[in-house]
Amino acid sequence: MRQAVVAGNWKMHGTRQLVAEFVQKFIDRQQLGAEPSQVQTVILPPVGFLAELSDGLRGTHLATGAQDLHTHSKGAFTGETAGSMIRDLGGSWVLTGHSERRQYQKETDRQIANKFVAALDADLCPILCVGENLEDREAGRAEQVVTAQLNTALQTIGIKRLAAGCVAYEPVWAIGTGQTATPDQAQQMHHSIRAALGVLDESVAQAMSILYGGSVNEKNVEAFFKRRDIDGVLIGGASLNVEQFVMIVDVVAAAVASR
Ligand code: PEP
Repeated sequence: MRQAVVAGNWKMHGTRQLVAEFVQKFIDRQQLGAEPSQVQTVILPPVGFLAELSDGLRGTHLATGAQDLHTHSKGAFTGETAGSMIRDLGGSWVLTGHSERRQYQKETDRQIANKFVAALDADLCPILCVGENLEDREAGRAEQVVTAQLNTALQTIGIKRLAAGCVAYEPVWAIGTGQTATPDQAQQMHHSIRAALGVLDESVAQAMSILYGGSVNEKNVEAFFKRRDIDGVLIGGASLNVEQFVMIVDVVAAAVASR
């Protein structure tokens, strides 16, 4: 069975108080045996909070990581964070190619692929984010755009190395808008991503966890997990409230158990 993942992207939100709330909640859950081992839960805070969150969560099942990394392992790159530093801060996961970085930092597929490789070199588990914008969807070329993003990244990463991370399908029009893709739309895209991977390596395609992201919350998450190619979720807004986040984790755990 593919790894079920619930990853929370705090974006540029959060406080040390929020870190403390997450730490307390997940330590309590661990002590109560309430933390589901069949779901890999990950929090991706702003990197300034990473050490405190990672230290606090040590000994729990919760993993931490960052929202971005630099392609170089060190050097004169003011304001940037290397993969080895994310590791040093206790993180083990990292996002690459989130649509907000594609949009505001103008990250290209090639750069994103280099970041994915840099993450693997630093022993991090990278999540490759792909997704079409509204114009592409309305023009009927969503699958074409997403497959092109994936294939360009694969030219640098290679299918075997991609297998050490995950892919997240996040339609840009569904991120932070409250408007999700329907579970059918998401399933169709996940199926097409898996098919594109399968052209290169069927065993990797079958083993790869593909996450859906875009306005997921505790009410709609179950419907996504009923679709067979949806293995995880990447959550923005709803990961900023610990009670809401925990509800999502528990719904996912129940859905995975009944698969
Ligand atoms: C995200 O930031 O990756 C995301 C999916 O955000 P939201 O859940 O708020 O749409």
